[in-house]
Amino acid sequence: MSKRGSQQGDQQGNVVEPEVRKSDAEWRRQLTPEQYHVVRKKGTEAPFTGAYWNTKDDGTYRCVACGSELFDAADKFDSGTGWPSFTAPAAAGCVHTEADNSFFMRRTEVLCSRCEAHLGHVFDDGPGRGGQRYCINSAALNLERR
Ligand SMILES: [Zn+2]
Repeated sequence: MSKRGSQQGDQQGNVVEPEVRKSDAEWRRQLTPEQYHVVRKKGTEAPFTGAYWNTKDDGTYRCVACGSELFDAADKFDSGTGWPSFTAPAAAGCVHTEADNSFFMRRTEVLCSRCEAHLGHVFDDGPGRGGQRYCINSAALNLERR
């Protein structure tokens, strides 16, 4: 994949064709029921229950579905929400966002750019430079510790 190609698509706000495509049955086989519920059915794990909400270990958080690098532990902060929270993605273009108006709320959904896995939502009340808080389900992530 050319890095330039994927970034172009994201900067223009277009939905980039996912590189990893699998059938529903394949995802079901590959993922645990909870992972499947979150990343393929846009589910949300209960707060304070996931594997990483309170993790402070150094490392790289990868997409549980395709292994793409999504977030860096250096950008993780304690939001008090019970979900892993990050100020920014690991790199521009590794995630993309879509408007989500489900449950009578106006939210912005965060998805893996490579496989379209639902990761969580992004809010604009974060402490970082861009003011963003990426609120991500543990079930969508796999921490590769350094
Ligand atoms: Zn992915």
